Amino acid sequence: MTRTILVTGGGTGIGKAVAARFAASDAVVHITGRRKDVLVSAAADLGSSVRPLVCDATDPEQVTAALDSLDGPIDVLVNNAGGNTDFDLPEQDGLAGVLAHWRANLDANLISAVLTTTAARDKLAEGGSVIHIGSIAADQGAGSYGAAKAGLASWNVDLAKQLGARKITANVVSPGYIRETEFFRDKLPAERAEQLIDATSTGRAGIPADIAETVYFLASAGARHITGQTFGVNGGAHPTR
Ligand code: NDP
Repeated sequence: MTRTILVTGGGTGIGKAVAARFAASDAVVHITGRRKDVLVSAAADLGSSVRPLVCDATDPEQVTAALDSLDGPIDVLVNNAGGNTDFDLPEQDGLAGVLAHWRANLDANLISAVLTTTAARDKLAEGGSVIHIGSIAADQGAGSYGAAKAGLASWNVDLAKQLGARKITANVVSPGYIRETEFFRDKLPAERAEQLIDATSTGRAGIPADIAETVYFLASAGARHITGQTFGVNGGAHPTR
């Protein structure tokens, strides 16, 4: 059966790896993002089953239009769009600056997933999957970015309860440090990268495929009783009981 997959932020990094993983099985994969050239190039790399769709996941009108343009049902929704917007925003003094930084991270990492999931809700296939990309930062602290990812995981608990009657699962995959993405905007100092690797038990950075494989499993037939959960993929950098 050909599945239909929607991956937000699917033009680069983790989202592109998720799109590639599903495209390698029998699936049509729609990838979204704000930069058309990046999406078109990613789709060209990944093959004809991957379709670019320009959409800012924080903009209600764009999200509505994007979802309206897709024929349902959607078997798997991956809310991957996001990142730490503090890397992009200039420093600003006073409460106005605090507000701008917090709103940007909440929009990018929490509201984006809420809007996309809400717009997709009626099109989600019975027995399908919703998977959000969270972050180790939700547990280790990283200002408004960590708080936004913690909020995403909290909201997912509610979402899993709501979608359960339709046998749709909802889970969070929470990466540690992942290389080969645009996340750090080339601003991560080498010593900090070393510290992040030293904190793992595996002695290496994660790669986008580590996350893609976990997402793929959570959308598989073997994972139909797994819902409302958060899964760390961090090489042991944040162990749990
Ligand atoms: P990237 O910056 O490579 O990927 C983020 C993608 O999201 C980009 O393709 C970007 O495209 C898209 N995006 C950002 N904002 C929006 C928006 N408003 N609407 C639509 N698309 C958007 O980094 P990663 O692959 O690392 O990030 C993927 C996810 O993984 C993020 O949620 C991030 O927080 C999370 N994560 C990453 C970690 C890491 O170490 N790399 C660690 C923990 C979590 P465009 O700019 O064109 O819109």
